Amino acid sequence: AIMPTLLSGIANGARQGILFKNGAQLEMIAKVRAIAFDKTGTLTTGQLQVFQVIPTRGYTEADVLKVAASVESSSEHPIGEAIVQAAQDLNWSRAVEVRAIPGQGIVGINGHQEVIVGKANFVKQYVTHLPSELKDAADLREQEGKTVVWVAQQEQVLGVVVIADQIRAEAVRAIAHLKKLGVEQIVMLTGDNKRTAHSVAQAVGIDQVYAELLPEDKLDVIRRLQKEYQTVAMVGDGINDAPALAQASVGIAMGKIASDVALETADIILMADRLEKIEAAMRLGKRAQAIVK
Ligand code: ADP
Ligand code: MG
Repeated sequence: AIMPTLLSGIANGARQGILFKNGAQLEMIAKVRAIAFDKTGTLTTGQLQVFQVIPTRGYTEADVLKVAASVESSSEHPIGEAIVQAAQDLNWSRAVEVRAIPGQGIVGINGHQEVIVGKANFVKQYVTHLPSELKDAADLREQEGKTVVWVAQQEQVLGVVVIADQIRAEAVRAIAHLKKLGVEQIVMLTGDNKRTAHSVAQAVGIDQVYAELLPEDKLDVIRRLQKEYQTVAMVGDGINDAPALAQASVGIAMGKIASDVALETADIILMADRLEKIEAAMRLGKRAQAIVK
């Protein structure tokens, strides 16, 4: 039977929009020594927007957006939604045989031509070369924390699309408070590239950054952290976070935009979609622990 103190802790949590799956999770979160955060949609709002389109010589911004939208219209990725939104007034048609490669990009056939959209290292495998002037522009934008997506057709790079996200307003404060509560290590896990990741990490006060991760890599990092810190929480919102949420001692899903898979795998669900709820959840756990002892 569940102890009354745990029960009241769970009830208090529910009132604040913090749903604990069970009493054990309330006890567990009090012991957390390291917390890993997904970047996109967790530390940032995840409401991505096209910030800039840079075409290769001989192409226009519209060319780049139309080709990208032809494959991204079959994607559920926030990057895809941002690109389709930016291309809404242009004339393009949906590509066929579209295939999304998680954490890498998306490919398809657009009017008999092969289209490839995604991160530099992925698109590089399909094209003769990445134009150096675009690489320089991409580096610069990534240092600002933006995400650069490469667009190619038939072994030719047509250009890049620069995507902007926004760091959540409460992120800096929320992380500072977690450290004050005694969390020793705050970690970022992301599929995004190193430059973008470090820029966001520095802005919000992250101790350790792991970038360019595939979903199963996120799980591995959680395992490694558990060896060093024993009790490790993971905060995420997407399908690509599900394996890591399941592996973590405490998996925390952000409510509003969390995918169903993330919700099912998580131990704690934050309905309010605000980072300070993590601190509130830890406080509930610590209070329950103090009463039990
Ligand atoms: P995150 O961990 O930040 O949520 P993902 O693992 O979903 O990111 O994606 C990692 C990277 O793979 C993206 O930053 C992007 O470069 C590339 N990528 C993934 N899916 C797509 C897509 N549909 N279109 C373009 N690029 C994509
Ligand atoms: Mg995410």
